[in-house]
Amino acid sequence: MDSALTHLSCTACGAEFAADELHSTCSSCGGVLAACYDLERVRRTFHPDRLDERPWNLWRYAELLPVRQMRFRLTLGEGGTPLLTAERLARQLGLRQLWLKDESRNPTGSFKARGLAVAVSRAVELGAQAVALPSAGNAAAALSAYAARAGIPAYVFVPADTPRTILAECLAYGAQVYRVRGLITDCGRLVRRLAAERGWVDLSTLREPYRAEGKKTMGIELIEQLGWRVPDVIVYPTGGGTGIVGMWKAFSELEMLGLLGPERPRLVLVQPEGCAPLVHAFHEGRSSAAPWDHATTVAPGLRVPMTIGDRLVLEAVRRSGGTAVAVSDAALLAGVRLLASTEGVLVSPEAGATLAAILALRESGWLSPADEVVLFLTGNGLKHPELLPDADHCPVLDPDAPEFMTQDSRAC
Ligand SMILES: *Cc1c(COP(=O)(O)O)cnc(C)c1O
Ligand SMILES: [Zn+2]
Repeated sequence: MDSALTHLSCTACGAEFAADELHSTCSSCGGVLAACYDLERVRRTFHPDRLDERPWNLWRYAELLPVRQMRFRLTLGEGGTPLLTAERLARQLGLRQLWLKDESRNPTGSFKARGLAVAVSRAVELGAQAVALPSAGNAAAALSAYAARAGIPAYVFVPADTPRTILAECLAYGAQVYRVRGLITDCGRLVRRLAAERGWVDLSTLREPYRAEGKKTMGIELIEQLGWRVPDVIVYPTGGGTGIVGMWKAFSELEMLGLLGPERPRLVLVQPEGCAPLVHAFHEGRSSAAPWDHATTVAPGLRVPMTIGDRLVLEAVRRSGGTAVAVSDAALLAGVRLLASTEGVLVSPEAGATLAAILALRESGWLSPADEVVLFLTGNGLKHPELLPDADHCPVLDPDAPEFMTQDSRAC
């Protein structure tokens, strides 16, 4: 399973770059770089009926990933997440088929593990001695874990109000954690300056080509789990949009490998009302998004006021025949509770937004009863104890005189 990586290509101007040296964005236009593969060669080794022998993690798709040597492929068991049916919710919503892609099972509790497993592996293969990134929290945790696994230092920069559980997680992995007064975009400016000064490799999302490659595996894996066909609709909670960019790339690579036809799932981009730059740009018919002022939401991973991937994300959603939805914080938190109490899956607030979005899209009629829908549940609810019900509300019983019939702990 050799990587079939050939070169990097600028998604904006088409300039080409050698793959086996470190690059960030395009040196001539600043555009996002994409990894390109010799798909003819992959066609010869990648057969769906011969995948059984391969590990059930993202390195299963090693030909379509950039890491050349096996010994650099870091793994903590990322990818290979379950695709769960949600029959009770589907009935409630009046949908033929509803699937939950449970990305909360990834190492460090979010799908960010996929991007960083690949990006850290590749950075180390190309000689990185230290890695850094700006993050709303989950990417920082994933970077910290994979850097520990690789035995190199990690420097993470997060907004000062990032949930404490996630900061503690990064510290436990031995990362240097810096809290910045500002948002992820401010953290990004700081990382770019410090990384250049100190020789760290900057793994900011879409400012290097390989995190998107890791996220791409969400798309390949979903198609494999469905038996090499697409669902009607994919719903994705969107911050920087790397997941959408990655999955869209996966579908075209699978088509070039002859494993998929020209059909595509309609992509639904979900953002919170308090930070919805891509949703606004989509509905205003613009091809790029204006930076969002005063971004505020309880879903940290979606508090991304601007992204270098805006054009790519908007183009993918439009070409898929999809749409964009903004949901309130109250609605996404209600989505978290409904998923947990109806299907037994406890997700992060970002993931709760996907359920809020399909409730709205059923109501508006955009989703029809015949649609087969996949929700990407990107993060684990246990990372956000501050948003979970307050355990102090559980009744405390006297074991000899329990008055449990009169008390309902669910009232809280
Ligand atoms: C980062 C993050 C997102 C947003 O993902 P992008 O691919 O950057 O748009 C969604 N959910 C969670 C839990 C995240 O950590
Ligand atoms: Zn360019």
